[in-house]
Amino acid sequence: MANASNAGSDWNAGSGYERLGVAPIINAAGSITRLGGSRTRPETLELMSRAAQVMVNIDDLNRAAGKELARLTGAEAGFVCSGAAGGLVLQAAAVIAGSDPARMRQLPDTDGLRNEIVIHTMHRFPYDQAYRAAGARLVEFGDYLFAHPWQLEGAINERTAAVAYLVAPFSSNKVLPLERVCQIAHAHDVPVIVDAASMLPPRANLYRYLRDGADMVVYSGGKGIRGPQGSGILVGRADLIEAAAAQANPAQFLGRGMKVAKEEVVGLVASLAAFVEEDEAAEMDAYRALVQPVVDALVELPGLRVTLEHDSVNYLIPQAAIHFTDDWRGPSRDAVAAALEQGNPQIHLQQLAGPRELAVDPLNLTEEEVETVIRRLREELTRPPSP
Ligand SMILES: *Cc1c(COP(=O)(O)O)cnc(C)c1O
Repeated sequence: MANASNAGSDWNAGSGYERLGVAPIINAAGSITRLGGSRTRPETLELMSRAAQVMVNIDDLNRAAGKELARLTGAEAGFVCSGAAGGLVLQAAAVIAGSDPARMRQLPDTDGLRNEIVIHTMHRFPYDQAYRAAGARLVEFGDYLFAHPWQLEGAINERTAAVAYLVAPFSSNKVLPLERVCQIAHAHDVPVIVDAASMLPPRANLYRYLRDGADMVVYSGGKGIRGPQGSGILVGRADLIEAAAAQANPAQFLGRGMKVAKEEVVGLVASLAAFVEEDEAAEMDAYRALVQPVVDALVELPGLRVTLEHDSVNYLIPQAAIHFTDDWRGPSRDAVAAALEQGNPQIHLQQLAGPRELAVDPLNLTEEEVETVIRRLREELTRPPSP
């Protein structure tokens, strides 16, 4: 009996990860799901633990939460989905089946339904499998360098359910602007569905895509807004959001496998409210203060160009970027990144900006972790070549 009452006592201290033998890592790569996503807001977690103890009608909760998402984003309607990826499945289900129960039941079999989702070739990426999970057939237009309006026109036909549009740091800037895509699609009565999962902050991106004409937009709840890790935000046109919600949990349709817990629903809405109210300039100053020491510590290494970057395209929050120039004589960029990843603790840097750069993204870092990152970077960058 003593054993039974003591069972699990190890879980009552620390993070629980030690109990499983899983070591903490340093995530200087941003809101990457594989590296933990982001640090959930502490007040959100407290709210969630209270909300988890109370039973509510989930349909009522989903409707009320959706209204609040709509209010916070200026959309007609909203729905809390299971991560942005779950939102992509619901976007496709909504544009293919609408709110027709027979069609909803038929998915992911889309025989006889309008099932084509038109997408820039430049926007193809692994997450677009989420659209196919609902039975969509992806129809590409343009190539890897160019896309012309006539190519989009040519891809739209009577089987087109939607045009999909990706907005992400480092995705191609050669695509047609969203506004233009919406004009063309709408002229054919075709909705435009947007994946903007990782585009928050800046907060302006909460309103921008709908203003450009998008019919539905998804954002991740577990990235920059620091809501529940498994949550997402789906907002847009009322009839489409209604169709998405009709196919999601608790309804027993395609979206049932992407359940969002009641406390996550509340936690996501509260996190978004907190995010919207926050002073963005102060938040960015804090990120800048965190990574400036990285710049200061490395700026004198000859052959590296170390800069503080912050823009609206590639570096959505301030980051310390290390550019490996032609004059660099030390270990390669890849060798440095690999050494940090294999060290103890593992340190993961942001590597999206191309083959000659590494960056330190402060989203998930404490001051202490930044010091460790600097120490390990200096060690690896100044390591003499092995004989
Ligand atoms: C992160 C990401 C997703 C998935 O978001 P989750 O909330 O983790 O499901 C989808 N699309 C893009 C562009 C992303 O960056």
